[in-house]
Amino acid sequence: MPLLLNGVSAKEGNVVARSGEHPEILHTPVASRREVVCFDCQAVNKASARATSTQCANCGTFIDLRDVEIRERSTQRIRTRGNVTVHKKGSLLGTAVHCGSLIVEGSVAGSIYAQETVEFRTDAKILGEIRCRRLIIDRRVTLAGLQPIHLEFLELQGHLTGRIFASGVVHITRHGRFEGGLDAARVRVDPGGELQGPMRIGGRARTEEEENEEEDQEN
Ligand SMILES: [Zn+2]
Repeated sequence: MPLLLNGVSAKEGNVVARSGEHPEILHTPVASRREVVCFDCQAVNKASARATSTQCANCGTFIDLRDVEIRERSTQRIRTRGNVTVHKKGSLLGTAVHCGSLIVEGSVAGSIYAQETVEFRTDAKILGEIRCRRLIIDRRVTLAGLQPIHLEFLELQGHLTGRIFASGVVHITRHGRFEGGLDAARVRVDPGGELQGPMRIGGRARTEEEENEEEDQEN
């Protein structure tokens, strides 16, 4: 399929080149669509990559798709499937942020619900829960998660303390250090990486609810 697409754009490329337009247009798929998960019903919608909003086809919820840049203290309630960047002097004081992806260079304290990637480029203590597809903790960064963290993939280059539920791979790189409870489908620790705490690896990762049930039975 990718080969076919390449063939098509190569053909179109000649036409565009003749018309004198910017050659970069060749790299932009004509009808580029993105997947958008509804905030309310979690249905996966398709939207144009350039759309600034859409509506959930399943439940009708309005879904903002605009990117948000936070450069100062903000109490605004963020609910977008666009990308959110909290810059160095920015801080998000709200109780929760819903977004597509999130980059944290400033401060965030509430819960984080990201459809795609959350990347911490600076130290943080998150009082709420974190749910995302991929979590990246940069090198020399310390993240403390006080509530459970649910994700598919974790790339830990820095230091993380918390309770992780991973349905995919947890990757601890050379300088990475994890302390806490870990429930993961797969774990990869590079030489030099460190992992401390109770863990359960393989099979289907348990959910937080299942774990609480088990603890209740033990008590
Ligand atoms: Zn919906």
